[in-house]
Amino acid sequence: MEDCLFCKIAAGEIPSNKVYEDDEVLAFRDISPKAPTHILIIPKKHIARLADADEADAVLLAKIQILAKLLAEAEGIAASGYRVVTNSGEDSGQEVQHLHYHLLGGKKLGDIC
Ligand code: 5GP
Ligand code: ZN
Repeated sequence: MEDCLFCKIAAGEIPSNKVYEDDEVLAFRDISPKAPTHILIIPKKHIARLADADEADAVLLAKIQILAKLLAEAEGIAASGYRVVTNSGEDSGQEVQHLHYHLLGGKKLGDIC
């Protein structure tokens, strides 16, 4: 999708610090980390927000959830704990209008993201 920051990152048009990539999903480090581990996981296809996902996206979204778990293990935060969160829509404070899941950990998490 034109003028979507995360579509451009997914396409490699804008650089990112990638931690995982396959045909369907990309995980990369947040440019402004709120915790020692702050990774964003996105579907490569443009879905603006969770509210715009549908039944056909169920496997893709499940895959992202399992990837979050695996990345938490790889980051060494599985035992200490972590948070996986997505913002959807105006009241959530969603800033980038391409579905993304924050994986946060490495410290006690307060009311962030
Ligand atoms: P939201 O508020 O939409 O849930 O989260 C958007 C996240 O994207 C923020 O945590 C912000 O720091 C991150 N972000 C915004 N622009 C960029 C960018 O160009 N590169 C990376 N890696 N992260 C970004
Ligand atoms: Zn997009």
